[in-house]
Amino acid sequence: MRWTMDQNTVSARLAGQEILVTGGAGYIGAHAVKALREIGCRVAVLDNLERGHAAALRAVGVEPAGSAAKPADKKPPAVFHQADLRDAAAVDKVFAAHRFAGVVHFAGLALVGESVQNPEIYFQTNVAGGLNLLGACRRHNVSHFVFSSTCAVYGTPQAVPIGENHPRSPLSPYGVSKAHFEDALAAWYDAYGLNFIAFRYFNAAGADPSGEIGEDHNPESHLIPNVLRAAAGVLPHLTIFGRDYPTPDGTCIRDYIHVLDLARAHVLGLAYLLNGGESGAMNLGTGQGLSVLDILRACERETNAKVKVEYGARRPGDAPALVAAPGKAKDVLGFVPEFSDIKTIVAHAWNRHKKFPKGYPKN
Ligand code: UDP
Repeated sequence: MRWTMDQNTVSARLAGQEILVTGGAGYIGAHAVKALREIGCRVAVLDNLERGHAAALRAVGVEPAGSAAKPADKKPPAVFHQADLRDAAAVDKVFAAHRFAGVVHFAGLALVGESVQNPEIYFQTNVAGGLNLLGACRRHNVSHFVFSSTCAVYGTPQAVPIGENHPRSPLSPYGVSKAHFEDALAAWYDAYGLNFIAFRYFNAAGADPSGEIGEDHNPESHLIPNVLRAAAGVLPHLTIFGRDYPTPDGTCIRDYIHVLDLARAHVLGLAYLLNGGESGAMNLGTGQGLSVLDILRACERETNAKVKVEYGARRPGDAPALVAAPGKAKDVLGFVPEFSDIKTIVAHAWNRHKKFPKGYPKN
């Protein structure tokens, strides 16, 4: 189904709807909460705060559930339930307290290397925890679901750009756990009529232009924050993992998409589903590939700093080039990235770094 959505249609579908955002205290989740509130949704966040940040919730106007406080920003209320997806009873309780029109599911673990070391927590959280969420959807008749999947489900691509029909062959337990949950969604669709979009993100990057929310992982493994921290002198140097890849400059190529664009895609995806749109997987990327050295140069330009570089070994599980074929999201949702040129991405990430060099305040 093809559906070109104007802003009025999207607002009409979503305004006043109650939406559950799992992992709303995380990087992409917090940006999505902000976008959903801006379009007029009532949001409930479920997060265990194991990796998410209470400060991110405060920054996007989410109040603890049961608090009498009204949002200072005069938007519809947004409440927080501190709960763990692995606790089925706690998840059920959150559903019982609301009437959700849809779920946007970000909560999960997302580090390739960690998943190789400790696959158990990846399957427990991303698969078993996710199934608790799907069980609650079935019991509480919630039939619209947007899932944070990943281009890691494709593994090393046979060719780039990668279309949604490319076979899935994940290289890491992280990618496998995401592919398993995609399979569960398809089974829930067949058996219980759950409508879903599995968004396969390429490389999320950047930050809200306000600088109030942004990327903050511990440890930080992502390229752009690490280059910026090296530029600021927080890190002694940037380690580039591998310079002998079969790419023009020998470093890995990725497709970087601004987190604001990702957040907007979720708003569009949810409106599309609520409008009767078809279920399936959809890439979110720009179709433009940039190498590690391209990113390094973009960060040096933005920061006016010379970054010291050391070359290290290849990082296990890294594919040489991952670039999206972004046509489906454009055709189906009318989604075109607006902020994903590398200059804007890096400028917003740098603005965030300068405002909060140590990341979110704790608690
Ligand atoms: N990378 C790097 N040094 C770092 C972090 C990342 O060379 O400190 C490389 C990494 O090997 C990959 C690319 O940068 O080729 C993007 O990595 P990131 O972890 O940001 O995202 P991924 O593609 O793994 O999801």
